[in-house]
Amino acid sequence: CFSTISLSANRRSFLAFTVRARAMASHIVGYPRMGPKRELKFALESFWDGKSSTEDLQKVAADLRSSIWKQMAAAGTKYIPSNTFSYYDQVLDTTAMLGAVPPRYNWNGGEIGFDVYFSMARGNASVPAMEMTKWFDTNYHFIVAELGPDIKFSYASHKAVDEYKEAKALGIDTVPVLVGPVSYLLLSKPAKGVEKSFSVLSLIDKILPVYKEVVAELKAAGATWIQFDEPTLVKDLDAHQLQAFTHAYAELESSLTGLNVLIETYFADVPAEAYKTLTSLKSVTAYGFDLVRGTKTLDLIKGGFPSGKYLFAGVVDGRNIWANNLASSLSTLHALEGIVGKDKVVVSTSCSLLHTAVDLVNEIKLDQEIKSWLAFAAQKVVEVNALAKALSGQKDEVFFSSNAAALASRKSSPRVTNEAVQKAAAALKGSDHRRATNVSARLDAQQKKLNLPILPTTTIGSFPQTADLRRVRREFKANKISEEEYVKFITQEIDNVVKLQEELDIDVLVHGEPERNDMVEYFGEQLSGFAFTANGWVQSYGSRCVKPPIIYGDVSRPKPMTVFWSSLAQSLTKQPMKGMLTGPVTILNWSFVRDDQPRHETCYQIALAIKDEVEDLEKAGITVIQIDEAALREGLPLRKSEEAFYLNWAVHSFRITNVGVKDTTQIHTHMCYSNFNDIIHSIIDMDADVITIENSRSDEKLLSVFREGVKYGAGIGPGVYDIHSPRIPPTEEIADRINKMLAVLESNILWVNPDCGLKTRKYAEVKPALTNMVAAAKVIRNQL
Ligand code: GLN
Ligand code: ZN
Repeated sequence: CFSTISLSANRRSFLAFTVRARAMASHIVGYPRMGPKRELKFALESFWDGKSSTEDLQKVAADLRSSIWKQMAAAGTKYIPSNTFSYYDQVLDTTAMLGAVPPRYNWNGGEIGFDVYFSMARGNASVPAMEMTKWFDTNYHFIVAELGPDIKFSYASHKAVDEYKEAKALGIDTVPVLVGPVSYLLLSKPAKGVEKSFSVLSLIDKILPVYKEVVAELKAAGATWIQFDEPTLVKDLDAHQLQAFTHAYAELESSLTGLNVLIETYFADVPAEAYKTLTSLKSVTAYGFDLVRGTKTLDLIKGGFPSGKYLFAGVVDGRNIWANNLASSLSTLHALEGIVGKDKVVVSTSCSLLHTAVDLVNEIKLDQEIKSWLAFAAQKVVEVNALAKALSGQKDEVFFSSNAAALASRKSSPRVTNEAVQKAAAALKGSDHRRATNVSARLDAQQKKLNLPILPTTTIGSFPQTADLRRVRREFKANKISEEEYVKFITQEIDNVVKLQEELDIDVLVHGEPERNDMVEYFGEQLSGFAFTANGWVQSYGSRCVKPPIIYGDVSRPKPMTVFWSSLAQSLTKQPMKGMLTGPVTILNWSFVRDDQPRHETCYQIALAIKDEVEDLEKAGITVIQIDEAALREGLPLRKSEEAFYLNWAVHSFRITNVGVKDTTQIHTHMCYSNFNDIIHSIIDMDADVITIENSRSDEKLLSVFREGVKYGAGIGPGVYDIHSPRIPPTEEIADRINKMLAVLESNILWVNPDCGLKTRKYAEVKPALTNMVAAAKVIRNQL
């Protein structure tokens, strides 16, 4: 986006002559590391494969950092972050900084190098990786620290200081960013073997000395600001946890003198109690708040803000790809200035830009109209600076009016609004959608038709995706092979998968999903209201990125999406063939969602489109239809108080998709992650006929909920083996697990299936694993 940047720079210097203005103040919380074309991903993977050297990797990383810093500086950014780059993850970087390496990695002290660092991240030939988990409610995953009472912390990675100096050598004074000490501990878990009652938070006084050393070095290197990310402040914390903040920052106070200290929060507003704690911290100079998702923050600030301190106002959305509404942000900023005082408001992003795409300039295929509605990270930096300039009295009228024109075009575009869809979705509100007959009566009706054995076997949908398969899909997309050739190839693939399942004697078959590369993109490409980027990648974990579709308009289904392949597959077998769809909540949660209407409205629209598909499948003679909701749980809000509302519309959306089918049509759903005991009542409320769930890593956890008396009347298939591992589960082991489940669940509702889809596995693993699975089901059937 260099042309835009230099243009505004020219305008700025011109305006500087004409207006006597205050200094502008802008800040960026953090920036994507992957690079505009995923340069870091490729450099990392080539390094891990042994195809390039340490120096090659370091060079790519240094170039990326320098171009990001220069870009932010050129845009006029006053507070430019450093140490937001990471070779894998910022929480793992903190673990390295603190020398908190679990003993199994055989670290012998000294500065932590790539060897130990990447072993912790990814495991190595002899030891597994550390656990990874979701970063708040984003799709980013961090490496969870494993801490015990005897751990010895030491300053073992100087990365924060090195990056500060590196930027300084380029002539750029940055704000070094650290994961705050309290959030670091709150996001850690007790190491294996450590008593459950051990509180990792009790380690606070042991990690602070390392933080002090880092701070001292940063000061010595010339830093005048420091940013501590303390996003856990937006969660529901108890008094003891809040006390840890007061304690930690009081303890750091003497080290921090002479430095301006910014505490950055994001992803929601800070609850009232936490706000009190936070704004009472003496060693702190500035507070960063998410003003996009933090809808109550403005009221909190109105209620009181410590005088003389800075407010870093996160008005530019770091979680989405939409152009900012500059006029509206500017009025918010003016209002804030009215409360906290002139020159005390710094314009910022709502959170790190890590969670958005990198640069719109690389989207050459996206049409101009849609492009004008968007802002990726590079464009958001420009927006932040345009707002800061405007706040300081040097409003770039041209930039503001072109932004207003883009917003107006988005608002009035016929591509965004579809009256019929709006009406249909509005009509859903307030009403309840449930199938007329209860689930046990439906299961009886379905059994009459399907005539399945007890403990029926099935799989979750996908079969191995071979290199050939990927190549053919790619060639078809690029028009290198004809539709006829493509259909022939996919038909052959489906035929193979059907024959294999018949040989294995599986009861309810799948077509294997060979025509899909991704369970959301496949549907998005066929629905109206969706757009796709070429480079809109967002880091998910390590070198892995996802490219979420953009939902920009009302969603509708111009024509059937899966009926052709599903009926073809059904025609190849007498066994029931499952139709395979992705549910509305999962499509929503794995996309960039429009911000001009509530998320639930968009979800209802998708639900109606999927409903049309479900009904067309039924008409085509498909009697079992699976609607995957792999991502339903991950959409759960960060705050307990908001959960009920989300679960209510999410579950309602799911029910809408299949409310119109006959009793004899069996609706399945599938969910990844066994961690759903806390939402079991919502899962029951989905009212599916059969649910298959990932479970293999802990039978106990899942089954405990039923043991505790939760009644589950629908069919349920807790995965009997882990598909994430190449290991072949022996028949006895599977039989054993089925028996354990039968101790808790009625035999007439239990299904036998793997944990999840088989697309990442090899046939050499899938064939014996499924053979054993079917054998185990038969052994138990004979005993019943
Ligand atoms: N039907 C999909 C498959 O089998 C489900 C994948 C998922 O839940 N993540 O691949
Ligand atoms: Zn799954």
